[in-house]
Formats: sequence, structure tokens, C-alpha cells
Amino acid sequence: MKRICVYCGSNAGGREEYLAAAVKLGEALAAQNLELIYGGASVGLMGAIADTVLEHGGRVIGIIPHHLKNEVAHHHLSELHVVDNMHQRKKMMLDLADGMIAMPGGFGTLEEIFEAVTWGQLRLHVKPCGLLNICGYYDSLIAFLKHAVAEKFIRAEHLALLPVSQDPLALLQSFRDFKPPATGKWFSNAGMDL
Ligand code: AMP
Repeated sequence: MKRICVYCGSNAGGREEYLAAAVKLGEALAAQNLELIYGGASVGLMGAIADTVLEHGGRVIGIIPHHLKNEVAHHHLSELHVVDNMHQRKKMMLDLADGMIAMPGGFGTLEEIFEAVTWGQLRLHVKPCGLLNICGYYDSLIAFLKHAVAEKFIRAEHLALLPVSQDPLALLQSFRDFKPPATGKWFSNAGMDL
């Protein structure tokens, strides 16, 4: 494992614990010699984690679309790639990374991590994804995913595609131990296994 992609809020959120967690994850990445791949912005939790990795001597690769570059790009990264659109950005982030973590964030963060998990479920990649659940931010989302399992839209085994932890070190360790689930995605129409 060489590079970890972090999806997180372009805002800092309403609790200081979110920023503290971005710092803690950034320190862990630098200490473990893991490069940070992220959306290339200087704002919110995104800027905080990038600054922390750089301050601790780590490498940060940002990938930002043209239309956001002038507004929010971080100008002191190890590498900044400017791409044509959001689709190219997400593909490049995922291609470069060996694992993807979502910290607290909004629509952008949710969209990114769910795309990564969806592609993993379809075996378009076999890279681990995880939720860094700071202050229970993702508790109600996790409860909803269990509801989707109970309603047979998600296989129980596939919840393992998205391990959850409040501790960055534990999440990184779970990535090192990750084995992709062997079960296919689909149920039959009656909710039985195919
Ligand atoms: P959000 O969670 O809605 O704040 O969106 C943050 C996530 O979406 C990040 O992981 C970025 O990759 C992407 N993103 C959304 N807005 C921006 C922005 N203004 N600058 C850079 N990336 C953004």
C-alpha cells in the first residue's frame, strides 16, 4: 500500500473534532510513508489534511478540475493535476490510490465514497474503502445501510466493502488486512441468492 485517497469536506464542519481528525489522519499517512491522493483544494478538511501531510514531510497529490482551480486549488502540493471534469478527477483519484477513506463531508464526499464502493462491489477494482466515523457522524448512514441489507438491496457480506472506524490507525490496518468479498452482487427477484 503506497497511496491513500481521502474524500472529505470542502468545509471544516461544525466541530473541532473533525479538523483534529484530519490532522490525525494526515500525521498517520506521513508516518506510514503513505502518499495522500485528494481533490486538490486548500479549503475545509481537505486543506487541513493536505497541510498536515506536507508539514510532516509526506507527499500529497491533488487532482482538481479546471472549473475549481482558480477558486480553491492548493498551490503548494507535491503534485497538482488539473483535469477537464469531475468524472476524470474521480477516475484518476481512484486509479492512483491503493485504498479510499471518507472522512466527514457533504454530498461530494458521499458521492465519491459510494462510487468507489459501487465499483468495488462490481469488481472494477479490488481496493479497500472505509469510513472514518468521527463523533458518530456516519452513524445514521450506517443504520441506513443495515436497513438496505435487511431489505435485500445490499448483501450482508458487502457491508465488509465499507469498514467503519473512528480511529485512522485502525482503518489503515483494516486496509492492510482487506480481502474482497467473494459473493456476487445480485439476488434473484425473490430475494434469494443467484
Ligand atoms: P463536500 O463533501 O460536498 O464538501 O465535497 C468534498 C469532496 O468533493 C472532496 O473529496 C472533493 O474531491 C470534492 N469537492 C467538492 N467540492 C470541492 C471543492 N470546492 N474543491 C475541491 N474539491 C471539491
